[in-house]
Amino acid sequence: MERRPTNVPRDRFDFAHAPAASDQSFENALAKARGGERLTVADGIELLATGTDREGIDAERKALVLEAADRRRAETVGDEVTFVANLNNNVTTACNTGCLFCNFKDPAGDFEAEGPAPETGATADADHGFTKTPAESRRIVRDAVERGIYEVTSVSGLHPAFALHDEHREILEAAGGPNYKPAERYRTDPGTYVEQMEAMAVDGVHVHSMTPEEAYHACRGTDWSYEEVYRTLREAGLDSVPGTAAEILVDEVRKVICPEKIDSGEWVRAMEAAAAVGLDVTATVMYGHVDNEAHRAMHLDAVRDLQDRTGAITEFVPLSFVHRNTPLNEEGLVTSGATRDEDELMIAVSRLYLDNVEHVQSSWVKYGDELGLKMLSCGADDFMGTILSEEITKRAGGDYGEFRSFEEYVDMITAVGRVPVERSTDYRTRRVVDPDADPIGPALGPKADGTPLTEAPPAPADD
Ligand code: SF4
Repeated sequence: MERRPTNVPRDRFDFAHAPAASDQSFENALAKARGGERLTVADGIELLATGTDREGIDAERKALVLEAADRRRAETVGDEVTFVANLNNNVTTACNTGCLFCNFKDPAGDFEAEGPAPETGATADADHGFTKTPAESRRIVRDAVERGIYEVTSVSGLHPAFALHDEHREILEAAGGPNYKPAERYRTDPGTYVEQMEAMAVDGVHVHSMTPEEAYHACRGTDWSYEEVYRTLREAGLDSVPGTAAEILVDEVRKVICPEKIDSGEWVRAMEAAAAVGLDVTATVMYGHVDNEAHRAMHLDAVRDLQDRTGAITEFVPLSFVHRNTPLNEEGLVTSGATRDEDELMIAVSRLYLDNVEHVQSSWVKYGDELGLKMLSCGADDFMGTILSEEITKRAGGDYGEFRSFEEYVDMITAVGRVPVERSTDYRTRRVVDPDADPIGPALGPKADGTPLTEAPPAPADD
């Protein structure tokens, strides 16, 4: 039996919510899961903890939970394993929010014209901060579209010069904030959110961007509703919204790991607004830091509830916390991420708990290849995307933030006896990929013609 991880804060913080013996038993929770009954938070805790009646993870019970989840996966979506041809184009690492789990950001002061460190611009590598102008974003996305991507994902730091559009900029200028400094103060002007959306919407490529946290930044200092913000962004080219910034939707955890971020109620309101204006959304959980099984089950409950009300969540993405290089680790607040057992159980219980979300993603960027593949038999059915550029996980010290070709995808998925399927972001368009095709490349993007997508970029194009 594996002992629970000894992350310092799990004992250190006096959380109101923690796994504790309840009226529910592991056996009852498992029977409900197997029978397809809707689970409660108490059930979720029992399954995630393999029973609160004993210490540590019980290997036999864990196997039963994984088996139930794998069966549910097969009943719900069959044997297909999906992936998408996509590009990560994050606009800026400038951010003053100071989340303790994040090493993606750089203090915005570093980017000021008088600041201490040289800004490296759009060509920066993962070790250096960067800000891209709308023109730079457009060139990067346009090149990737020519190479065959279907989707561009863009999640950025909350740059103080970012505003929704010119009118928002004028309001922030006049009021002197909040969290605002004029673009002229910085070496590179990120433009407005609207300008970035318009820049990235090349040839109808799917633009997946503007998390609830970014939407909050895009209306700070005004009384605009999230619906107004998302409607404006949609008109500028936004197609769907990543449900990141969710972390754990329990405020006692958020107060420890991201005290400056919006609270869980605000996150839910922003997602509801995105859904209300017709945008699909995804949902995530980031676990394995100071959180416990009760927080994880409560998070799943909040996501299922949101989906009951909106029906807009296309996939659920469990993200295992990568602890190295993060303030949480450097300040001694955590000493590890989740264990492998916890990772497998998080995927499995996500599948069993979220009876209204069709797709659960295995994030190989977080888990690595071996465990990422294993997750496909623990309840997951989606295997992310090609990720032409991935800066966030690498900056946090993760080992796996790399490009993955279609050929590799097909080899890996067929090796575990499953069916490789190229998908659109919203899963509504799918194409079974023939493993015997030669060459093997994407076919769903606006310029995709089956030519293999390779990591090496073409020669820079003029703009
Ligand atoms: S997680 Fe996002 S909002 Fe928080 S510090 Fe990092 S970039 Fe900024």
